[in-house]
Amino acid sequence: MKAILIVFLFGALLFAWPALGHAADQTQVFPTSAGPVKITPIYHASTLIEAGGKTIYLDPAKPARFDGLPKADLILITHIHGDHMDPDSIKQISKPNTEILAPAAVVQTVTSAKPIANGETKEWQGWTIEAVPAYNLKRGPSAGQLFHPKGRDNGYVLTYGGKRFYFSADTEGIPEMRALKNIDVAFVCMNLPYTMPPEEAADAVKAFHPKIVIPYHYRGSDLAVFKKDLEGTGIEVRLLNWYPK
Ligand code: ZN
Ligand code: ZN
Repeated sequence: MKAILIVFLFGALLFAWPALGHAADQTQVFPTSAGPVKITPIYHASTLIEAGGKTIYLDPAKPARFDGLPKADLILITHIHGDHMDPDSIKQISKPNTEILAPAAVVQTVTSAKPIANGETKEWQGWTIEAVPAYNLKRGPSAGQLFHPKGRDNGYVLTYGGKRFYFSADTEGIPEMRALKNIDVAFVCMNLPYTMPPEEAADAVKAFHPKIVIPYHYRGSDLAVFKKDLEGTGIEVRLLNWYPK
């Protein structure tokens, strides 16, 4: 009887595992004075943020899958590239009262979005949403061009219950990133040719010294290099799988 029960439980676990979906098993829970903030990596830059009964998505975009996930109360978009701005994904997770905040270049396509520019701050449902710069210093598709020109795109610093979460968007280790203050959890991009290599990302992270750093948007990058560069700094490096099969 006991053996049967164990076999049954094991079987149930095997079946339950894929049903948990994309990345729910990777959800990170951060305590704040206003209650827990739950952050779930979905794919590449697509991120689910839940707190106080509200659901926020950052850069929902294919090939991320959203079936089985809650509809959005707020969608934040960083910039126009297809791995960040995807009208189909926005439609899939939207309900009638979903709000969208995005830089003006995105609003041209996602016309239901409200614009927020570098340096602007908005209050939303207990969150403070601050749009911060994200841009290339030197990398671009050809000489004299940048993949992400200064001023067009937004990173975000999101504050809830006294905790500050930074999402870099696509950027190099710009002075504005290095000057960030009091970041509890930083989500930092690293990939070539579009953003920066892990050693540059680590150098910038050392400068603003978040308590925890979580690499995202890192396809093709050696995260071991990033982790090693931050050894002994007191910054916790948390590696999550942003590329589930
Ligand atoms: Zn981009
Ligand atoms: Zn990107």
